[in-house]
Amino acid sequence: MPEESPWKKSSVELRHRVGVSRYSGEIFQVSCRLPEVFGRQQCPVGRARSFPVFCGRFLRYRECDSLFAIQPVFSSSKTFEASNVMADCGPMTRTTPRSLFLGTHVSIRGGLALSIERGETLGCGSIQIFSHSSRTWAVPALTEAEVNAFVSRHQKSSVGPVLMHASYLVNTATSDPEKRKKSAAALEEDWILANRLGVYGLVLHPGSAAGQSDALAIRLSAEMIRDTVDREKGGSTLLLLENTAGGGRTLGRDPGTMKQLVDRVDRPEKVGLCLDSCHLLASGAEIRNPRSYEEVLSAWTEAAGPGGIRAWHLNDALFERGSGRDRHAHIGKGAIGLWFFWTLLRDHRFTGIPMVLETPKTDDIREDRLNLGILERLSRQETFWPEDPEIVDCLAELETVA
Ligand SMILES: [Zn+2]
Ligand SMILES: [Zn+2]
Repeated sequence: MPEESPWKKSSVELRHRVGVSRYSGEIFQVSCRLPEVFGRQQCPVGRARSFPVFCGRFLRYRECDSLFAIQPVFSSSKTFEASNVMADCGPMTRTTPRSLFLGTHVSIRGGLALSIERGETLGCGSIQIFSHSSRTWAVPALTEAEVNAFVSRHQKSSVGPVLMHASYLVNTATSDPEKRKKSAAALEEDWILANRLGVYGLVLHPGSAAGQSDALAIRLSAEMIRDTVDREKGGSTLLLLENTAGGGRTLGRDPGTMKQLVDRVDRPEKVGLCLDSCHLLASGAEIRNPRSYEEVLSAWTEAAGPGGIRAWHLNDALFERGSGRDRHAHIGKGAIGLWFFWTLLRDHRFTGIPMVLETPKTDDIREDRLNLGILERLSRQETFWPEDPEIVDCLAELETVA
């Protein structure tokens, strides 16, 4: 028998307060069954943080000794009988720190549903996929059967939130009419597909301001993003804007510009941020000591606004700080080093959100296993201990693959 859960009680009256948990510093796994409703989990004291709770999905988070609430947000296309609104939440079970949503980018070779299996093989709590080749325009039309196969495989899986990465060719900031048309169409297709698949977030590089002022680029970009997310209002997917490595005139290299963009889009219920650690360092942000880490992350949290930072790409950086170069390295093998990842994994602002690797790999899954092994080990350390023999072993083995 699972122990009585404080989350168990729920009804329409409890819409704004589903449960109070008195545990602190522990990680719990809460399974919520809210038919066709998604909600936001909010921590009203301390740092405000929210993320969606999806029907049938697992929500895992680290408590911070405070009140948590799930506030359902109704799908605009449906109405619900009051009695169906919230069945129950629970049981709540304790899990190990493994229940962080750590994972990696996986291939969709052989069909989308196989990506879930690849994630399971690696013990991922989260995965990221491309809908198709990220460097071509054409998004292949998926049949209803393929979509259903993915959704049902995912529902039965230990893999939690799925991120889908939008095409790299999309430039939401371009003023060239031809490129604009193509970008808008490709982004819309990805967005509709992401919602059909019920994935947690569609990650997008906003694009480049090349040839125009930042102000115009932001306006153009915001327009396209807003138009896109307004198309699938009933879906549960988030559009996550990713910070860039700072090369060329890419939009979103610094929190100031990103904030302007996010404010202008003005869809906090649909649009949040996905931060990439390699891009942070490459764009010049110092994240390798406590003081700067806090400054940088506070600035980005502020830039995200109420939409929040909803996902992380965990990559070490091949080149030094400020290089502007988007080249990822294995965890602990680049210019960022282990301390940042240890700190991030323990940062309460980011527990419960997907954190996926985009580190180099051959066809083999060995590199993923080693990088995930390092992150898992770090996530268990109360004090930073880079000499941990398991980490040392993983790093030594990574030496032989890259
Ligand atoms: Zn990334
Ligand atoms: Zn990158």
